[in-house]
Amino acid sequence: MSTAALIDEIDAATEGRDRPAVLDEQGKREVRRATLTAVAVPGYQVPFGSREMPVARGWGSGGLQVTLAVGGPDDVVKVIDQGDEESVNAVNLRRLIRGTLGCGGTADTRDATIVQSRHRIPEDRMRTGQTLVLQVPVSEPLRGIEKSVTECRRMHAEADYSRMWVGMYEDLVTGGVINQGAGYPVMVEGRYLMAPSPIPRWDVPRLGGDQLTILCHGRDKKVYAVPPHTTVEPVTFDDVPFEVERTPGSACGLCGSADTYLVQTSDGKFLCSDVEWCARVRSGDVDPADHAELAPTRYYPDPTQRVRARAEDFVSDPGLLAGHALTDGSTRTATAPGEEWALKVTDLGKTYGARRGSTGVVAATGVSFDVAPAEALGIIGESGSGKSTVMRCIIGDEEATTGDVRLGGYDEGRSNVLDLSLSRRRALRVGLLSVVYQDPAAGLDLRISAGGNIADRLTAAGWRSYHDIRRRAAALLDRVEVPLNRMDDVVGQFSGGMRQRVQIAKALATDPDVLLLDEPTTGLDASVAAGVLDLLRELLAERSIAVVVVSHDFGVIRTLTDRAVVMHRGRVIEQGLTDQLFADPHEAYTQRLVAAARG
Ligand code: ADP
Ligand code: MG
Repeated sequence: MSTAALIDEIDAATEGRDRPAVLDEQGKREVRRATLTAVAVPGYQVPFGSREMPVARGWGSGGLQVTLAVGGPDDVVKVIDQGDEESVNAVNLRRLIRGTLGCGGTADTRDATIVQSRHRIPEDRMRTGQTLVLQVPVSEPLRGIEKSVTECRRMHAEADYSRMWVGMYEDLVTGGVINQGAGYPVMVEGRYLMAPSPIPRWDVPRLGGDQLTILCHGRDKKVYAVPPHTTVEPVTFDDVPFEVERTPGSACGLCGSADTYLVQTSDGKFLCSDVEWCARVRSGDVDPADHAELAPTRYYPDPTQRVRARAEDFVSDPGLLAGHALTDGSTRTATAPGEEWALKVTDLGKTYGARRGSTGVVAATGVSFDVAPAEALGIIGESGSGKSTVMRCIIGDEEATTGDVRLGGYDEGRSNVLDLSLSRRRALRVGLLSVVYQDPAAGLDLRISAGGNIADRLTAAGWRSYHDIRRRAAALLDRVEVPLNRMDDVVGQFSGGMRQRVQIAKALATDPDVLLLDEPTTGLDASVAAGVLDLLRELLAERSIAVVVVSHDFGVIRTLTDRAVVMHRGRVIEQGLTDQLFADPHEAYTQRLVAAARG
């Protein structure tokens, strides 16, 4: 059905009693229920079920569904499209809403109980009791950085927004400003990341006003809300000011306003985007002082406050690098009270693919060891002996079948971390426990810069100062001997050895208590591997970190570790001081590994 025909039908029907159901009762109930939840949990995207609405695309069926579900005959509705309530779209929508609800309509924001809008919040101060309904074209603020809906949901559930911070970091590094325009991400009540799409940044500070704001995406079937007096903060680093759109010196060519959101016409003139406001300014029917208070002047761009964008500017300023200790000097205790170990693994076992009719592959069984701060323990064994499986079970990439893993720095070593929820385990990986994989692509995002990869870990740990993050990343990269003029280059352009150095820098970024190295040099050419091995030896000597090094190469284990366990077919078959194992191996299997290393 064409929209015009639909409206004609509604108009005809409203003459009598019987109004066609644009949104059926069931659908209304669904939207109302979701809206109530949305108001109760500000910023949280609430899904709802309803049929598609018989309206044309571009009408914003999301806004319409909310207005029709929450509105009634006593309401007075204003509809704005692109700031204008007299556009064809706005007029048609208003007719449709009035016809369906049997309510009043207005062009005057002050008289409206519901303002349905597409791109703007009206210039007028919205009051308690008014509802602002925003049609949403993109509901998911994380969509640009994560395609998987399930993963986005996990990120919201865990308030894990580090990748969004990395995106902003990368914007600042490349252009000196955060690029996001319409739909600028905001944090609601310090908890949920929300896309206030598609209003301009200019309107973002107005989201925390006296009105109830309801945002809805029709096809995604998501509704979210900002109730009155909710804290809504545009996301930015502590030392990077949020900016609104503003051309210095611009003013409306019709009413002369300089403190309204202006749009530029094709001949270069500026005009108020809110047409109703502009007309009322000209007839003297506004309170200019009140509006000046509302205007986001404190967010006008200030070029002197912009961050230094380019790596060269940054690196050539020694002040920015100075005074950054590589260890955070925290007094965190890495061991449990009365214990020596920072990591203790007991009877760890993993069977892959066991199900009815198949016993599965026993990759590890009865594996036990512990490691003290400032100690490095080696796990040596030939390929397939279960070394990586043990690492993956400790770090949480893989679920162990049996066993007990404790960290001295977590709950004073009283909890088996294998029993923790996946989100708690992920949190441990931000601060306490780090891993360096054989494949750099497993530990890094190759599409972002070296500094950005380190920013990922730091922002996850709560760092919010752009300059501190940059200083810390530079100090770490400098330490692992990545040239600082490569700091802002995408890691995908790096050689294997350089990637591995970046991965090591990232793993050390938050000064973890425990570091797991799984074949850290295996993928590298011999001379490059030797360099990385030297670096690792120095780094381990500098800090009191507990390290587990996994390798099939006795040479690596000898270089880095004091003690080692030998794994064969998923079991520990021999253990001792590394030098002793190397000099006097008991098991024939260990003797073979030693012989291989001797060449
Ligand atoms: P290592 O790191 O010592 O080379 P792994 O821990 O990778 O050994 O593998 C140990 C055993 O577990 C091998 O037999 C391997 O084939 C098996 N294995 C490893 N990962 C999986 C998996 N995801 N599914 C099934 N079997 C696996
Ligand atoms: Mg392995």
